[in-house]
Amino acid sequence: MNFTIATIPGDGIGPDVVREAVACLEAVGARFGHGFSFVPTLLGGAALDATGSPLPAETLKVCKAADAVLLGAVGGPRWVGLGGAHRPEAGLLGIRAALGAWANLRPALMFPELAAACPLRPELVEGGLDLLIVRELTGGIYFGERGRSADGESAWDTERYSKPEIRRLLGVGFGAAAKRSGRLCVVDKANVLESSRLWRETAEAMRSSWPGVELSFMYVDNCAMQLVRNPRQFDVIATSNLFGDILSDEASMLTGSIGILASASLGDGSLGPGIYEPIHGSAPDIAGTDRANPLAAILSAALLLRHSLHLEAEARALEAAVRSVLAAGLRTADIATRGGAASSERIVGTHAMGAAVAKAVAEADRPQRNQL
Ligand code: NAD
Repeated sequence: MNFTIATIPGDGIGPDVVREAVACLEAVGARFGHGFSFVPTLLGGAALDATGSPLPAETLKVCKAADAVLLGAVGGPRWVGLGGAHRPEAGLLGIRAALGAWANLRPALMFPELAAACPLRPELVEGGLDLLIVRELTGGIYFGERGRSADGESAWDTERYSKPEIRRLLGVGFGAAAKRSGRLCVVDKANVLESSRLWRETAEAMRSSWPGVELSFMYVDNCAMQLVRNPRQFDVIATSNLFGDILSDEASMLTGSIGILASASLGDGSLGPGIYEPIHGSAPDIAGTDRANPLAAILSAALLLRHSLHLEAEARALEAAVRSVLAAGLRTADIATRGGAASSERIVGTHAMGAAVAKAVAEADRPQRNQL
């Protein structure tokens, strides 16, 4: 089959990691007989420099016409002084809203091969870690009314959610929990925030429609603590835009590094396709140095295969290739064992890691061919 994928390298390490994810998708296409057409387009700082807008109309056109969007990261110190609509991040929020990508799925899956990279005591993550954060992505305080007083001495941002926004997000959370181990924890700050109380009410009203799912609630401050105290208590966490942003970065460290966590941003498809991106930012400190871990972008490409192209076997093949490369001892610096590299580990750069995964995708086919 043929598919069109809009690629948005973006800024900083975005181009470094997207390049490797594209190479891996090409390897998947070659192995399974699919044609992927990649259409590069601009967003964020790169778009600002080229066009004066962080989200050019052409980018939206390319993305809306594609089957899926693969995104690196945006932002960096060069654009920090710019205000409001001219910030690179405005492009990111804008594309999520324009494509109607309101549910952000952030799996935090610890590969057994990376258990040593987890900063928690081994007994806390014994048996692995596999949780899913479902974050609301196009509402809440990131999109609410904001401003500054005339004298510049005060500023405000507004957290506002409607029941339909909460309901559709929680529907994804309940649905994901039903397919996994059946536990959904809604994280909020209902002891203080009115908007959080609306989340609880809405979740309670949905409870009876999902009899197979055990629904619980937790305050976000407690959740931040519980994630490091006993992360295995969680299966699916559903939460608001702001809380999900913060908790998923925390969860990423439990799995070894922010450099391996992927995400899928999905809506109902009526406005555009899904957006797939690593959860990390543009990491300007290591951009262009071949030190970025490309696995989060590669695993985002696997989510793209699964959720937008409905190619489950292909998604699994890519994930298996990542595992085989980790099992072979390849590590980018961020996931190398802390306190000195174990003898079985080999530290490699961004490109070598991506190339190894692409090679593993291609080579996984060989034994099967020989068996025929
Ligand atoms: P960051 O995620 O870019 O970096 C945090 C730390 O993690 C840095 O030390 C970085 O070197 C490291 N890191 C991140 N990704 C890595 C990878 N793949 N491999 C190895 N190490 C990695 O977060 P930040 O420093 O807070 O933000 C930098 C810029 O990125 C800012 O402009 C911010 O606005 C932007 N940002 C963009 C996105 C996005 O595009 N989705 C998300 C977060 C931050």
